[in-house]
Amino acid sequence: MSKRTAVITGASAGIGAATARALAEANFHVVLGARRLDRLTPLADELSGTAHVLDVTDPESVASFVRYISECDVLVNNAGGARGLERVEDADEDNWRWMWETNVLGTLRMTKALLPKLIDSGDGHVLTVTSVAGHEVYDGGAGYTSAKHAQSALHRTLRSEHLGQPIRFTEITPGLVETDFSLNRFDGDAERAEGVYRGIRALAAEDVAEVIAFAATRPSHVNLDQIVLKPRAQYNGSRAHRE
Ligand code: NAP
Repeated sequence: MSKRTAVITGASAGIGAATARALAEANFHVVLGARRLDRLTPLADELSGTAHVLDVTDPESVASFVRYISECDVLVNNAGGARGLERVEDADEDNWRWMWETNVLGTLRMTKALLPKLIDSGDGHVLTVTSVAGHEVYDGGAGYTSAKHAQSALHRTLRSEHLGQPIRFTEITPGLVETDFSLNRFDGDAERAEGVYRGIRALAAEDVAEVIAFAATRPSHVNLDQIVLKPRAQYNGSRAHRE
């Protein structure tokens, strides 16, 4: 039997790279997309998958990425992240634009582009990596929380709009995961980024990837609607126990 195909966005690092490994391990042919092709290509080679440059904020890049894909059974909308941590009164519009373009419109573009192939597969599945920030707010986080709320709303709307069609939708909702997320959020400030994970055992990218692979390998009639996973020591986006 030929392998089913899983497309993973933001597969050059963190949760996306770990998900590519987990889905390859689960016998999917993996197609990896991100802007840093130099990081994608060795991973795709290792997993006997394929890699193509993808900028989810650019409609032309999405269109040319999708042209490489003849069949698609699973789409993992993972590309995204945060920029800055300013209060609303000091909000930086460029940061907001980046977060909305990447997390929200990126998910919209990729899903729209691949929906016909996902449905044609007879058993399509879209897994969207939102965040606990998609369901709560915290001071300084409005740009990110509002983008993740919108991404979650978009994802849940799709779940309802495609009832009766052969396609599943799973929202993956992680708490604190130790990746380059905070380094990117704080514009390369390593010390500030390290502070986010100080005194707490955060989730690893692999912990999230394992859950994504679990959801993607349930029988076709089983839809895991939303999976919330956090470190044991984290209660929510603003409350955690630190040693
Ligand atoms: P990360 O290590 O910073 O990885 C982000 C990934 O997104 C990279 O592979 C990056 O690749 C890709 N990306 C960024 N902009 C892109 C664009 N315009 N087009 C295509 N790919 C793009 O962070 P991560 O923690 O793995 O984050 C993955 C997802 O999990 C994000 O949606 C994030 O919001 C969510 N999340 C993270 C946490 C956490 O605590 N880490 C918690 C909850 C949810 P390139 O730079 O090569 O393009």
